[in-house]
Amino acid sequence: MWPIADTVVSRELIDCMKVALSRKNIWDKTPTWLKSTVGRSCSLVPPAWFLGRKFRDNCRFVAQAQWWPADRARQYQLARLRDILRLAYEKTAFYRRAFNAVGFRPGDLKSLADMRRLPTIDKQVVNDHLAEMCTRCVSGGDVDTGSTGGTSGAPLRFYLDAHRSFVEYAYLTSGWTRVGYRLGMPMAVLRGRRVGIDRNGLRHEYDPILRHHFYSSFHMTAEHMTSYVEHMRTIGGCVLHAYPSSAHALARHLLATATPAPRNVRAVLLQSENVYSDQIEDIETAFRARVFSSYGHSEKLVLADQCEDTRDYHVWPTYGYCELLDEEGNCVTVPGQRGEIVGTGFINTIVPFIRYRTGDWATYGGAACAACGREHAVLTEIRGRWPQGELLAADGSIITTTALNVHDDTFRKVQDYQFQQSVPGKATLWIVPSAPIDAQERRRIVAHLNKRLQGQVVFDIELRTELIKTSRGKQPRVVRTCRGLAETWAGGRTKAACEGRMDS
Ligand SMILES: [Zn+2]
Repeated sequence: MWPIADTVVSRELIDCMKVALSRKNIWDKTPTWLKSTVGRSCSLVPPAWFLGRKFRDNCRFVAQAQWWPADRARQYQLARLRDILRLAYEKTAFYRRAFNAVGFRPGDLKSLADMRRLPTIDKQVVNDHLAEMCTRCVSGGDVDTGSTGGTSGAPLRFYLDAHRSFVEYAYLTSGWTRVGYRLGMPMAVLRGRRVGIDRNGLRHEYDPILRHHFYSSFHMTAEHMTSYVEHMRTIGGCVLHAYPSSAHALARHLLATATPAPRNVRAVLLQSENVYSDQIEDIETAFRARVFSSYGHSEKLVLADQCEDTRDYHVWPTYGYCELLDEEGNCVTVPGQRGEIVGTGFINTIVPFIRYRTGDWATYGGAACAACGREHAVLTEIRGRWPQGELLAADGSIITTTALNVHDDTFRKVQDYQFQQSVPGKATLWIVPSAPIDAQERRRIVAHLNKRLQGQVVFDIELRTELIKTSRGKQPRVVRTCRGLAETWAGGRTKAACEGRMDS
């Protein structure tokens, strides 16, 4: 047996967000002016070569593995789970203790069902035991610090292999090819990057090697959005990669101003927040392009991409092992039932996450997709853990804003909106108008919402020029301004869905 790794984890080390000197990290941190200079001379280098052999190998692997028959995928998962369980047991005090407590040895894993003999863990467990969950010293140059985002509560911080980015990016790009993306195609990006002002006065940065055009999701006024759209028209056949809230704001701006969308945007790729059906409808109406959504999280345990033929999500079987557990902790195997997404990742060998309760919930859609023929687990209606869209009624019941998805003319004069809640049963609707809103229009909006909520939450309206964004530039639909209320919602497993997120 190997010795337990000497894993002294200092709080200072975590707090300073250690970043390894990987090629991706160095490129990400390179100043824009230097990127432009280097990029001009390297712009003829295909992105696949810049991203390296590991990326190219993984692209080939993923492209094939997504079509594996179910039995082959199961055998692969079993082998990878044995690896990660053995690593965790032999190199970490935490997992050795946890496995011993239930009389389990890594060699006992004969089938995937044997995973259920192991206990689950969650964010609190990782927070409390991180130091004894590391498989090796984390001060090396090949270790990154990862963290989860969120608008309430402390973020979770942990360690990751620095080179996992190339593996993950291979999965992401392979998924996007289902809706026409090809590596090297220009990409318009609205995803929380702090973007400076370029020489033309536009909040825009360009990565000449990856051909990414970054715009600022922190600056989404009508004036800024008009300039982003006009610039997008000039970048050639491209995809838009965005937070759902940012893409939705852009779509509503186009619709409100009757501005034709750039015809060169072939697809809109969404990630990192809950996606609501009214958002999809607005974005597809405005852009006349397919919305394609991906599910993932910072802990890198479960990754799922939508099918090219349906809106269902296919879990990548080679990325991690995904279980759905109901409120009693039983495995969900009946299509139509909901469960919490519980992941065991294959990618992170620094801090193994074994049976980690993500706090994200989904509906089980079956073991295979009839539309495309892939034999992966299918998920639908994924709802993340960060507070994106839940209101609390006076009687304590939770109302997801899915119930408020508005497909009628309620928001006909509204550019964007957000709910502010500090007291159960009451909320303020912040509105950024797209046309003048008088007292009669206010009453009409309130009446429409009251009809939907049947008086469970009473609204008033405030007109705003901007809405609240998180430090990562996401825009939650509901902002809680009362700490006590957030704590109420965070407690209890039945309310775990409220704490959801997709924050990779
Ligand atoms: Zn499919």
